[in-house]
Amino acid sequence: MDASVATLLHTAGTRLAKTSTTPHLDAECLLAHVLQTHRSHLFAHPEQRVARNRLRQFARLVSARSQGRPVAYLTGEREFWSLSLKVNPATLIPRPETEMLVEQSLRLVPAAAHWHLLDLGTGSGAIALALAKERPECLVTATDISRSALAVARENAATLGIRNVEFLQGEWFAPLPGRRYRVIVSNPPYVSDADPHLDAGDLRFEPQRALNGGADGLAMIRKIVQQAPAHLDPGGVLMLEHGYDQAARVRELLCTAGFSATRTYRDLAGTERVSVGRIAG
Ligand code: GLN
Repeated sequence: MDASVATLLHTAGTRLAKTSTTPHLDAECLLAHVLQTHRSHLFAHPEQRVARNRLRQFARLVSARSQGRPVAYLTGEREFWSLSLKVNPATLIPRPETEMLVEQSLRLVPAAAHWHLLDLGTGSGAIALALAKERPECLVTATDISRSALAVARENAATLGIRNVEFLQGEWFAPLPGRRYRVIVSNPPYVSDADPHLDAGDLRFEPQRALNGGADGLAMIRKIVQQAPAHLDPGGVLMLEHGYDQAARVRELLCTAGFSATRTYRDLAGTERVSVGRIAG
């Protein structure tokens, strides 16, 4: 069998097209992972021949991907905010739209601020680590209910050499009695439990606890919004990612809990994705 990079990518791409919406990208990521190189190297050397043990490893990964397993879990990593993050099935796979939450929250924090920031439900640590990296004088606290997710987040912080971040185990604000922050951010679970997407595609393999927001998808957002005022400094801000059709209800929850200046930002796809409110200061 011809085992050039080009042939392998073509064969795998064709096979993955039956189950993936991004078959060629998937094949490239998996082969780059097996060869411990970058996708660009594959394009530069399509004629390169692949050793037999690597061929077997690639075949196993393509087969797992064809059964639906997410590429990020197969390679064990995902890029977020230019940070290479370890991920595993204990953590949600960071999404590009969540970078918008990072971008908008950074606009609230002056470059030299010595503020305390909080990321609730940090998973792999994606948001907390991006904020900590961009605002080295701030201290970022990150909580998660899952000990295995926090182990991944701590490992990511260590690998990236990011020290101005602390990780605490517990549900939402539980590990933070009496503590207040200037900015609180979260990408909480917000998919409604009746949403068929939970049983389709990559979401099937991700932690349900990180995705499922109860009957109307807002159960966790409601908890966070209600508890946040007691953990915000005067003038402090809460910023939440949410589902495509939840913006108006999230702003209403924010108003009811005493937040003002509520507004919603759209992601690159034009979807209302992040809402924000401020506590009087
Ligand atoms: N954006 C994710 C999805 O629908 C959901 C993430 C979440 O619930 N926080 O795939």
